[in-house]
Amino acid sequence: MFSTDISEIEKKLKTWKNVKFYFPYKELTGIPKWQTVVLTCMDCRIISNVFGVDDPGELTIIRNAGALLTPDSLRSLLIAIYELQVRNIIVCGHTNCGGQMTKERMNITIQKISERTNNPPENIFQILGARDSSQVFLGFNDVSQQVTKTISSIKNHPLISPLNIAVSGWVYETENGEFIKIC
Ligand SMILES: [Zn+2]
Repeated sequence: MFSTDISEIEKKLKTWKNVKFYFPYKELTGIPKWQTVVLTCMDCRIISNVFGVDDPGELTIIRNAGALLTPDSLRSLLIAIYELQVRNIIVCGHTNCGGQMTKERMNITIQKISERTNNPPENIFQILGARDSSQVFLGFNDVSQQVTKTISSIKNHPLISPLNIAVSGWVYETENGEFIKIC
């Protein structure tokens, strides 16, 4: 049931195709049928089914801690728009997000890294090219505000704003499975 052994996870990967043998994978391309990309959190409570996905090939999903617009999620968005024919962008944060980190929380995480790797915090910041813990973890307080900010950054991005891309922001409530439209 509950496994932390990677060999158990690897077994699941190996049997996946047998479970879904009926699906015509060969006909699929990387272009999502819904012409839509979701930028959401890596949180394990959010699975692709919550977005209404039933089959592979329907929706492109970009995930990171907090559903944030970072250089890497922007890179993925640009690929989705310019190479995968995506016309709609949905940003979906969620309640009880681990990305809601106070400055103190972020410092504690740096401390954990420090203890487990025997690196003083200055080394960690240098390795990550960051000034401080806020720059490493990009913690935020309010999910709705964060989604609004992300949507605004996407809408106003000079490489996205000239295009006719529909953008909307949502919060997924992990307590009850409901979506709240923010903007
Ligand atoms: Zn989260």
